[in-house]
Amino acid sequence: IDQLVSNHVRQVSNVLFSMVKPNILETDLKLAVFSEDVLTRILDMDSAITETKDFVDFASGNVLLKSSVPLSHRYGGHQFGYWSGQLGDGRAHMLGEYVNNKNERWELQLKGSGKTPYSRHGDGFAVIRSSVREFLCSEAMHYLGIPTSRAATLVVSKDPVIRDQFYNGNIKKERAAVVLRLAQSWFRFGSLEILAKKHEIPLLRKQVDFIIENYFPQVGNDDNKYLAFFNEVVKQTAEMIAQWMSVGFTHGVMNTDNFSILSITIDYGPFGFLDEYNPEFVPNTSDDEARYSYEKQPDVGFFNLDKLRIALAALLTDSQREQLKTGLNGLVLYTEVYKSKFMELFRKKLGLVGVEPNDEYLVALLLKMMAEQNADFTMTFRELGELTIENMRNNHIPSRLWALTHLFSNSNFKNWLILYLKRIDTGDPDLEQQDNTRKSLMLKTNPRYILRNWIAQSVIEKVENDDFSELQKLSEILKRPFDYQIEAELLGYADPPPKWASDIKVSCSS
Ligand code: AMP
Ligand code: MG
Ligand code: MG
Repeated sequence: IDQLVSNHVRQVSNVLFSMVKPNILETDLKLAVFSEDVLTRILDMDSAITETKDFVDFASGNVLLKSSVPLSHRYGGHQFGYWSGQLGDGRAHMLGEYVNNKNERWELQLKGSGKTPYSRHGDGFAVIRSSVREFLCSEAMHYLGIPTSRAATLVVSKDPVIRDQFYNGNIKKERAAVVLRLAQSWFRFGSLEILAKKHEIPLLRKQVDFIIENYFPQVGNDDNKYLAFFNEVVKQTAEMIAQWMSVGFTHGVMNTDNFSILSITIDYGPFGFLDEYNPEFVPNTSDDEARYSYEKQPDVGFFNLDKLRIALAALLTDSQREQLKTGLNGLVLYTEVYKSKFMELFRKKLGLVGVEPNDEYLVALLLKMMAEQNADFTMTFRELGELTIENMRNNHIPSRLWALTHLFSNSNFKNWLILYLKRIDTGDPDLEQQDNTRKSLMLKTNPRYILRNWIAQSVIEKVENDDFSELQKLSEILKRPFDYQIEAELLGYADPPPKWASDIKVSCSS
């Protein structure tokens, strides 16, 4: 730990953390939303506490708990393919860790809580729009069953923040907000990379040993532990990215500093969920080269893991280093695990039981037609779940499926349906039984409500005017993304996005 308690921007060496205090937010602090689940089930609190001023002071970083030693973490990273040197928590403060009633260890971190030694050219703040997005999406991902950091609270203030968002030629005044977020560890690939790059090998070894002991007990403690650790990260990263793909999630900034060692989704910035299925979708308007498009995510995962492999090299023997590049582990493992997880998830999305050789073709052909027809990714799978065997036999496509996907106008769709029907037909003469089994598998795999950009945007505009009702309503809806909810239907959350949605721009500015 860097003992100098000061937020002046600096290069530090041979430390993992710097001691630094959060900023005090001054004007009109309000708790806009909180996660009941995080507060009660993870933090063992009574949610009534959220009505107190003490709680808002705590959740904004204005008042520290007695035992809290706030820290910012030093890490580096490869950004858009290139080594960026020291990055670190430029606007985040770790408040400490909490061991809950279930004996789980959680690290509490504020984001948007002011300058640190790692702020570089930034101001240490986060604006309302990016904070709302982080709160909503991390919680939504959790309820979609995807490993992620969690969000406990969102506090908004009226402290002004300057950003480059132009509206009608004027700079829009923005407001500071703070998210209290939790993860079992906030270590990133870049946490190891910086130590390797700066040749701080004893500290790197200490850090990796700590990580293995605390988060990878399955790895053991023998001579091969660093190798085994890497293989675990490879597997978990491959699975996480396959899960992203299965719900159309596009992270947007897959730099190695935004990649968790625990393979949880972290650092929600200019992410986006697919509306219509376009594999080339890029959510971040600043990503000119489309480096982080939806379809490139599996490859970028590979790239990032390769950087982690290089960071670990100093801890390995020559033969272990060789093994990571060749044997049936390391990056070779990545491709296998990714493909198999991807197919496992897409089989479920189509309600396919067991494994058959043509499954990959069936999935690929459907995706190809969806791209050609600009079919809505979420609703296509959802509505295919409503299709009965009787429908398919008679070539009768229910109107909603037709309207949402336009698939029927693709000349291949009839052929695809024939293949699909053949694949799902179990031979059970009770067709209704067959339909129900398949439908229930599909409905619990294919969400009906995801955090579409336009939905986030309309909530953000309300929050910026101190109206938190829709934010709170949406966060309730996203807790049950697989269940039909009348309130969500009335808000149009399962419909194709409105026309204005295509004008929304999301960038790194946050
Ligand atoms: P990101 O791509 O948002 O994960 O951020 C990359 C790096 O920039 C991290 O080191 C962040 O802490 C830092 N950063 C982003 N925004 C700010 C800000 N407003 N003030 C200071 N540092 C920032
Ligand atoms: Mg980041
Ligand atoms: Mg298209």
